[in-house]
Amino acid sequence: MAGVLEKFPMLIDGKAAEPSTGAWFESFNPYTGQPWALVARGARADADRAVEAAHKAFTTGEWPKLNATQRGALLFKLADLIAAHAAELGAMEVRDNGKLLAEMGAQMRYVPQWYRYFGGLADKVEGAVIPIDKPSTLTYTRPEPLGVCVAIAPWNSPLLLTSWKLAPALAAGNTMVVKPSEFTSTSISLFMKLVEQAGFPPGVINVVTGFGAEVGMALVEHPRVAKVAFTGSEATGSKVAEAAGRRLIPATLELGGKSPNIVFADANLDVAAKGVVAGIFAATGQTCIAGSRLLVEEKIHNAFVDKVLALARTARMGDPMDLGTHVGPVATQPQLEKVLKYLEIAKGEGAKPMIGGGRASRPECGTGWFVEPTIFTGVHNKMRIAQEEVFGPVLSVIPFKDDDQAVEIANDVLYGLASGIWTSNLGRAHRIAARLQAGSVWINTYRSVAPMAPFGGYKRSGLGRENGMETIRNYLQTKCVWVDMSDDFPSPFTMRI
Ligand code: NAD
Repeated sequence: MAGVLEKFPMLIDGKAAEPSTGAWFESFNPYTGQPWALVARGARADADRAVEAAHKAFTTGEWPKLNATQRGALLFKLADLIAAHAAELGAMEVRDNGKLLAEMGAQMRYVPQWYRYFGGLADKVEGAVIPIDKPSTLTYTRPEPLGVCVAIAPWNSPLLLTSWKLAPALAAGNTMVVKPSEFTSTSISLFMKLVEQAGFPPGVINVVTGFGAEVGMALVEHPRVAKVAFTGSEATGSKVAEAAGRRLIPATLELGGKSPNIVFADANLDVAAKGVVAGIFAATGQTCIAGSRLLVEEKIHNAFVDKVLALARTARMGDPMDLGTHVGPVATQPQLEKVLKYLEIAKGEGAKPMIGGGRASRPECGTGWFVEPTIFTGVHNKMRIAQEEVFGPVLSVIPFKDDDQAVEIANDVLYGLASGIWTSNLGRAHRIAARLQAGSVWINTYRSVAPMAPFGGYKRSGLGRENGMETIRNYLQTKCVWVDMSDDFPSPFTMRI
């Protein structure tokens, strides 16, 4: 079997790189449950090679000679190339993570905007002349890149989430080593061909593939790495932060969530029901911002749940490449097992599955890793199903009495990534938005992201922000330059104030 699988090597210093271990691992198609590719199993020696290549590109050759406008122009070229290859890139990601072509295609058509936004920002980040309190002195700041930055990505939106890191880091003048998820390591190979075509010098972006503990941690621990940008689970994020802390380098962390969609009786309930269903069943619930808790005002509980159930029952499952499919498979076998385990935990806690509740056996699901879209009622916020991230198509419905109780339940989790509010009362919408502990709050909509809108987590959902103008500062450090213009130096034994 292995002999017929396409091979995906690493990409270091502009060249395909075989793994130092000589080992390869299989990448599976979640729709068939079968392997379709072989990916290089990188190790510490490969992390070293990649970081050294990135360091060489940061300090020598063409890249450090480019001015910010020229770097921006390269990002624009890359954006155009990604746009031209969006369909192929999206299809590769579907083969690896089983998300819908409709979703991944749209994502890949949108990804160029990150390179355009940050490409445009590259030459607009200014230092300052400081109004200094000393005579004959000019004091100014220079924003300077950090050096080699590492991007570690999860499997659910591989190139989108990698781009959230690459675009600002490159605009700022850094070089990069990217470590994709071991489950979705293939689309970056086509992406890297586009990087080369755009004209980036070799070594500006390098890719190592493999497992987190073997090659991901080796990157974080590498003495030449100046910053880590991580997206993934809370458990891994805290290991990465610990290792970065030991090395005294900054780490931005985008982690998990247990986000509430809060529906008030005065909402447009038909619109809210669509938002709730999209929030949890899109991407088979495998998004960090999945609206996995439906908080619904007590007096409309039954009527609203009926609306959501009716919509959820129309979800067509099947081949993610088919544009008519609504819900695809779960991306990985361990994830399938985890979701099924949580279904049993929820039932054991007394939650009632109104639909779903188990593995999908519909004929159109074939041998794939499918879970039935599931809606539990009878959930109390203290249950594990309401507190822990499932990362699958599983919605927990929790009633509330009034605004205060809605906010209390919404905030009563360790996470704080996102929240949705559905109401026609403008004052209430803004009052509740201000009280929610969440990095993103959507009012009468859900799951919107954009390159110019800051994104990130409160509490255990993360550290720092991605997207938005300030993000470029994550990849810069400030140098302060002092010039004495007096041609004089008073007593060397007296401090000048
Ligand atoms: P994960 O933490 O298992 O893996 C993420 C990445 O970290 C992978 O590339 C993995 O190889 C690497 N890794 C694993 N162990 C490592 C280690 N010891 N050192 C360094 N790197 C290591 O997460 P996942 O299962 O790929 O992704 C799902 C999680 O990601 C969910 O919790 C989800 O909520 C979160 N997520 C967050 C966001 C966000 O923006 N907040 C977006 C998408 C996904």
